[in-house]
Amino acid sequence: MSQLHKFLFDGLPVRGMLVKLTDTWSEILRRRASNTEHGAYPDPLRDMLGQMVAAATLMQSNIKFDGSLTLQIMGDGPVKLAVVEVQPDLSLRATASLIGTLPAQAGLADMVNVSNQGRCAITLDPKTKFPGQQPYQGVVPLFDDEGQAIHQLSEVLEHYMLQSEQLDTTLVLAADAGVAAGLLIQRLPIQGAGNLEGSRVSRDNEDAIGRDEDYRRISLLAKSLKREELLGLDVDTILHRLFWEEPMTRFEPLQGENGPRFACSCSRARVARMIVSLGADEANSVIEERGQIEVACEFCGVQYHFDPVDTAQLFVDAARQSQSGNTAH
Ligand SMILES: [Zn+2]
Repeated sequence: MSQLHKFLFDGLPVRGMLVKLTDTWSEILRRRASNTEHGAYPDPLRDMLGQMVAAATLMQSNIKFDGSLTLQIMGDGPVKLAVVEVQPDLSLRATASLIGTLPAQAGLADMVNVSNQGRCAITLDPKTKFPGQQPYQGVVPLFDDEGQAIHQLSEVLEHYMLQSEQLDTTLVLAADAGVAAGLLIQRLPIQGAGNLEGSRVSRDNEDAIGRDEDYRRISLLAKSLKREELLGLDVDTILHRLFWEEPMTRFEPLQGENGPRFACSCSRARVARMIVSLGADEANSVIEERGQIEVACEFCGVQYHFDPVDTAQLFVDAARQSQSGNTAH
């Protein structure tokens, strides 16, 4: 089952989170694979999207914010768009669009940053907005300060967290056909950290510097985690292997109804209502042309099919409903 684990390093201003998405991730892949127009994701794109799903789940859990978090990459290569949306209750969905094919060993830059024009955007859309309020969006490029293409998504997002949230963050991300997983380590903001900028060395400053070293040590340990370990080992083993020397407080994992899980607002009933709203003439002309009505959800890829019999039934039901509605009045 998909799980999110949170933990604190005792006495240190460092916290962490580890997410493992299994059933949630499988459902995302299953819906896409069932799409007869696009088919399953090629492996490199699958792994990139899985890393994005893990990262977006960690980021949503990390911020105190009541609204959806959307992580998207607008690519300039064969992958035009990859999007993950995570709600505050950790329900999530994801999709990506690819034009053409990908080399088997395609890296991040080959997919979305061929001409250094790719962008990564994080959008926070509050549930309750005051009139005219826009969602908050932060955009980071897919190249570093020297203009060199970045090859790891984790690095792009670490850059974003530092730039937009002023938070030192370490991310390790990985995904394959069965698991999308991520480890996040973060230095908690220290009170009076601004004092560090002054030249006067105070007791506070010394403390802050010492704490920076704690974060760096834990960050290095986190970065030593290998892809196979993150994907293949259980959470207890991973945390023990990395941090066995660090006293740690762990919290109850978030799972099931409280944890990360797939959810998309699309449904067959919803598509049926849309077809009815088109009207019988329009629906019949599509049937004449293509033999059936096929509607794909743009957020998860699943396709809904209505053959001529299904479609005729929709309009019979709709007529019956409106009639019983009329006689009731
Ligand atoms: Zn959907």
